[in-house]
Amino acid sequence: MNLTKTVGEYAFGAGSFSTLGDTLSEHRADTGRRVIFFVDKFFEGHALAQRLPVETDDQVIFVDTTSEPTTDGVDAYTDIIRNYKSEAPAVMVGVGGGSVLDTTKAVANLMTNPGKAADYQGWDLVQNPGIFKIGIPTLSGTGAEGSRTCVMMNQEKNLKLGMNSPHTVYDRLILDPELTASVPRDQYFYTGMDTYIHCIESLNGNFRHGVADAFSEQSLALCREVFLSDDMQSDENREKLMIASYLGGSAIGNSFVGVVHPFSAGLSMVFHTHHCIGNCIVMNVMEEFYPTETEEFHRMIDAQGISLPVDMCKDLSTEQHKNLHDATVIHEKPLINALGEDFRDVLTPEKVASIFAQM
Ligand code: NAD
Ligand code: ZN
Repeated sequence: MNLTKTVGEYAFGAGSFSTLGDTLSEHRADTGRRVIFFVDKFFEGHALAQRLPVETDDQVIFVDTTSEPTTDGVDAYTDIIRNYKSEAPAVMVGVGGGSVLDTTKAVANLMTNPGKAADYQGWDLVQNPGIFKIGIPTLSGTGAEGSRTCVMMNQEKNLKLGMNSPHTVYDRLILDPELTASVPRDQYFYTGMDTYIHCIESLNGNFRHGVADAFSEQSLALCREVFLSDDMQSDENREKLMIASYLGGSAIGNSFVGVVHPFSAGLSMVFHTHHCIGNCIVMNVMEEFYPTETEEFHRMIDAQGISLPVDMCKDLSTEQHKNLHDATVIHEKPLINALGEDFRDVLTPEKVASIFAQM
């Protein structure tokens, strides 16, 4: 039985971003050391960046999220911080969506553990607690703010895997729905649906956990209110989705995903499709595995007037089909959770190709 850790402290509500200065002052006073801010590049020159309580020795690093995090990228950020000053910082703050939140978690672990990011991809490999870290989501849905992992692409090993560890969990969160007001509509939908998809996969799986189920059910109820409403981005709905994302992330430690995430990982390995839009592309064609939820997904996407790329997998070469298949069925844990030990009897190469052909 795994011990589970979730985030212990959080400030919540519109305007709660303003609590950051006081929290940092406490840590600065206790340690006399600096603070590192990882901030999504979108906010460079933006009013939010001006509100960061930055002091003399601090570093503000704007993270380019055009591509999702890689192990090499995380190593490069770690070097930037070490080269600036050898003394470890007191606090690391991540301000952004899943990409920045995960980058911050990974670098905070590497500050206190030797070696490279790739050495810790897996389960419970991180030995020492990382730097105290504060997560401030500006985009809701991945649950990265609540989860015990930080997903990174390892290009050398052709592997997408996180540092699954209790040390990866944020020490504190600031959940301020005002920060998601600037998210573009499509991105808001795609990322928001990540929590919906995670929860329906978990609740339909073979491995269930009472606490994860409770988190997932409440998260789903909030997603339904948001995505079946007239204005998914109203103040009230942005607050609801922020809660849904945190609950979904808190469930992840005790639950498994299902069929959608492995297929989405296939898209990401072959076409570099980003995680959340990839999940939506897959969810759109999941009638066979999740009939009720796929119908509900169609109602949500119609209600919000969001479109998805079409004909992505038309005219693929045999090699591309093989790569898609391999990058999908390699995810045994979620596929066993969804389809049982004999999942390969269901997901034959022909079957996998026919599912991708619908995307
Ligand atoms: P993201 O962080 O990659 O950001 C997507 C886009 O939204 C970027 O262009 C960014 O600049 C923009 N953006 C973010 N906040 C904004 C704001 N307030 N206003 C305007 N634009 C804004 O997107 P994401 O979907 O949140 O994260 C995806 C990443 O999360 C993937 O790398 C995925 O693997 C990871 N993930 C992690 C976990 C976990 O448990 N750690 C779970 C699921 C997914
Ligand atoms: Zn996901």
